[in-house]
Amino acid sequence: MAGPGAVSPDLAWHTIFEPFRIKAVEPIPLLTRAQRESALEAAGHNLFKLPATAVTIDLLTDSGTGALSATQQAALLLGDESYAGGRSFQQFERVVQRLTGYPYVFPVHQGRAAERILARVDLKPGDLVVSNTLFDTTRANIEQAGAIGLDLPVSSSRVPSDRSPFKGDLNVDELVRLLTAQRPKFVILTITNNAAGGQPVSMANIAAVSACCHAVGIPMLLDAARFAENAWFVHEREPGWGDTSIPAIARAAFDLADGCLLSAKKDGISHIGGLFATRDPVLAEKFRNELILGEGFPTYGGLAGRDLSCIAVGLEEALDPDYLRYRARSVAYFAEGLQRAGIPVVEPPGGHAVFCDAGALLPHLSPDELPGQALAAALYLEGGVRGVEIGRLMFPHASLQLVRLALPRRVYTQSHVDYVIEVAERVARRAGDIPGYRIVEEPAFLRHFSAVMAVIPPTTPGHSASPPPAPSPAG
Ligand SMILES: *Cc1c(COP(=O)(O)O)cnc(C)c1O
Repeated sequence: MAGPGAVSPDLAWHTIFEPFRIKAVEPIPLLTRAQRESALEAAGHNLFKLPATAVTIDLLTDSGTGALSATQQAALLLGDESYAGGRSFQQFERVVQRLTGYPYVFPVHQGRAAERILARVDLKPGDLVVSNTLFDTTRANIEQAGAIGLDLPVSSSRVPSDRSPFKGDLNVDELVRLLTAQRPKFVILTITNNAAGGQPVSMANIAAVSACCHAVGIPMLLDAARFAENAWFVHEREPGWGDTSIPAIARAAFDLADGCLLSAKKDGISHIGGLFATRDPVLAEKFRNELILGEGFPTYGGLAGRDLSCIAVGLEEALDPDYLRYRARSVAYFAEGLQRAGIPVVEPPGGHAVFCDAGALLPHLSPDELPGQALAAALYLEGGVRGVEIGRLMFPHASLQLVRLALPRRVYTQSHVDYVIEVAERVARRAGDIPGYRIVEEPAFLRHFSAVMAVIPPTTPGHSASPPPAPSPAG
């Protein structure tokens, strides 16, 4: 395999194919439409509550769903399960220190454990945390501590058709204005910006936010779940970075921050795990004490030794430019196909997923009729494709009504993607008939995970009547 920095020959003429061959396979569930209808009904119309055995192509998330490499499988066998100071921890610590430059490295069982610990040790009621866009569990953990999370995304992030290259950026003008009046506890830059469409954050923006924070003595942290995908976009899109290696670009981002939270289930290409790393000895000490209380001894932090080894290998594999080129191309290919199929998507496509603009596809539904949920349910019913709503169901005040179709890393091939595009085309053809949804039952927070929903019958007052369904070729 080509090492970091190496570039494939002859890129000019050939298809960017999967830079791996398949060594273990898993059958895919194939269901009838009637089976899908009853599965969705039984799940309260909530795709999170479907059993995986009822899903044909699972694009719910790219989190923890990647395929391990043979090298990672070997690392699992070599894992050292010593309670304290195991070899696997040393390997993990070495890789994370080399990647980030941060001396203090703490494994946790997944990213949100680091969020919860950080919120508990560093936030008081009324504190303010500013971000480009907080991830949903990050926001929930901040609010659970009584603090306030404030998103300051750039305005282009709110316009799905805007093709700006770095729509994940934080709005620095608004940050500067805010800092004259208030003192946030810290700023979290999410790279790539998941909630805003998997959009990258430019190195210029990371540097500007870092300078603003450090001028007034406020720490800046990276939520670095997709640090490698972000580095790839910087390499491809940002003037001045095209000749810098991917590991060096990633490192430049970490150098500008004071620490990072990282879910290893994304660019760690592992099934579980996460970490917190920092250069701040005081914060590290507070974190360590709380870690022992909930996660475990600091050299395993809620993980098995074998997981630490697997993550160490995955973090380095994610920086391979041949892998990242294929990864970005897969997402772009998927987005192009969906657009040809008549599905409006957020442009340009992000690093890990295509975000379909359900609000634009289903203008007959108001945002409160959950067009994102409606499109996600339709894709499932049509072809067993599972995506996730990112709109009013997930964030009750969301202005964009999106469905995210995330690509697990190294799992699906181009023909799987082609099938999903065919399913989407059939859904787009009868978009006008897709009904809205209402929420019947919901929990106190993170309601999208467990809400029960119901179809709004097309005869409900206020709901526009739709024409009879067009005949579809395959019945
Ligand atoms: C997934 C994710 C998290 C949370 O990590 P988990 O491992 O799922 O707990 C936090 N931030 C971002 C940007 C993420 O994508």
